[in-house]
Amino acid sequence: MKSLTEQARTFPTSPGVYLFKGKKNEMLYVGKAKNLKKRIQAYFFGKDDRTQISFLLKKASQLEFIVTDTEKEALLLENTLIKQHRPHYNIDLRDDKNYISIRIGLEHSSPGIATTRRVIKDGASYFGPYASAAGAREAVDQITRFFRVRTCTDREFSNRVRPCLKYDIGRCTAPCVKLVSKEAYAHQVEDAVLFLRGRSRELLHRLKERMDEASLQAHFEEAARMRDALFLLEGLNAKQKVVVHGGGDYDAISFARVGDDVSLCLLMVRHGALLDRLQYRFHHIKSEDDDLLSDFLVQHYLKRSDIPPEILIPFSFEGQQAGEELLREKSGRAVRLITPKRGLKRDMVLLAERNAQEELKRLREKKEGIEEILSQLAQKLGLSNIPRVVECVDISNLSGREAVGSLVCFVDGEPQKNRYRLYTIRSLNTPDDYGMMMEVLKRRFGVEASGLSLPFPDILLIDGGKGQLAVALRALEEIGVTGLSVAAIAKAKEERESDQIYIPLRKNPVTFKKGSKELLYLMRIRDEAHRFGLKTHRKQRTRKMLTDKATSSS
Ligand code: SF4
Repeated sequence: MKSLTEQARTFPTSPGVYLFKGKKNEMLYVGKAKNLKKRIQAYFFGKDDRTQISFLLKKASQLEFIVTDTEKEALLLENTLIKQHRPHYNIDLRDDKNYISIRIGLEHSSPGIATTRRVIKDGASYFGPYASAAGAREAVDQITRFFRVRTCTDREFSNRVRPCLKYDIGRCTAPCVKLVSKEAYAHQVEDAVLFLRGRSRELLHRLKERMDEASLQAHFEEAARMRDALFLLEGLNAKQKVVVHGGGDYDAISFARVGDDVSLCLLMVRHGALLDRLQYRFHHIKSEDDDLLSDFLVQHYLKRSDIPPEILIPFSFEGQQAGEELLREKSGRAVRLITPKRGLKRDMVLLAERNAQEELKRLREKKEGIEEILSQLAQKLGLSNIPRVVECVDISNLSGREAVGSLVCFVDGEPQKNRYRLYTIRSLNTPDDYGMMMEVLKRRFGVEASGLSLPFPDILLIDGGKGQLAVALRALEEIGVTGLSVAAIAKAKEERESDQIYIPLRKNPVTFKKGSKELLYLMRIRDEAHRFGLKTHRKQRTRKMLTDKATSSS
């Protein structure tokens, strides 16, 4: 096989994407360039000695490129490849389930409103993301209260013959059974959209007109509702920090980085008011700052329908024009990427940077804290490795029926939800915890699991005492897994006692002080496994009850 340097020499001068791949052909990093040859030669033959670049060069064993016609296509292709392959060293917003958005189903003739963590191209309008789920839910609550937009699903909507309780309590005008005219309902939805877009001046004006009209026609209830909505809006305006005189809609973005850790802050300003702040964090990032910024812009805004006309960024970057074109196509109007040099907009970018730095500082302190916990755990449990990856298994069932085994995974102190697994117990229908544990472990670590190619954790934690630990060890032995560290965590019998940790070849539990950080960390993982299992278990039971009900009534 050609060396990386030889492969680099074959790169063309056209725009496109370049791919760093590892030994097993796994995608390590995807980048884009206006001139592939120039960019890749800067990696190999330039004077660039940034650690992230030398790291990539050491890790990669293959280097490939895909040519595109334009820089804009390269941006799009890079975005697609990142989504598809999720390279370890690129930023990836796909896992960004922390942020919640509000969806208004404008594709429907009588749109409904809901919160969602999935933003897809389906003709609906999405607003947000919101920094807190509570904030998004509060906004939906206010919308149903003042604008009475429906919250039922489209399916429910089309099957109604009578309005639901929402109508009775004045939270919906019941378009499902045509108790409101199409035009009037459309006005309600328009108000809600203006509200979500932060267009308070326009909305205030509309509400005042509507209130006066309702009073004139002696619709006092409606007039009172409009008055309350006005109060709410005025209250919100007073609460929001006004950052610029004369309005202005823009996002201000900046980030801070130390090594591979990056914290990015986005401040949303609408009509001159600071509406929200979003914080993103990324680890093991090998992108250069320009690529990081452009990757973020593409990944973040291509998912959104409410792109502001101006996005303030800390510096300009190669491919900025192509980025603007892409955002213009997506939003249907001009979007400018601006690096303000002075004035209030510059201050906003600096404010975003300060927020990012603070967040990064907090993250690093947390990281140092978890390092300490993990090394203490390694020592206490006699592990040869620091237990960076911990998996925990818990079984939940209802007297042995509808049992599920839940497996959660924590990496460096953080839950890794993409590595969570649920196993519906197939083999047993009796309350045999041991047998169920055996089945789950076989399915996770046995031959059946080999196709999943999930790496083994540094330690496997079992919910239970000595007995469960013995079962786990027996199961692992049966399936030929050796060298995997295992521990069991048993709940304290008395409130004044602490939970107990059992490890193989030791009769008595390992002693941890009650409330010690190490013990609390293991308890948190066990509780998460329990929560994850129960949540699914409840869902299964509800589904079963509904099916049983449907069968008996048919
Ligand atoms: S009243 Fe009708 S439209 Fe309104 S929420 Fe209930 S079912 Fe949906």
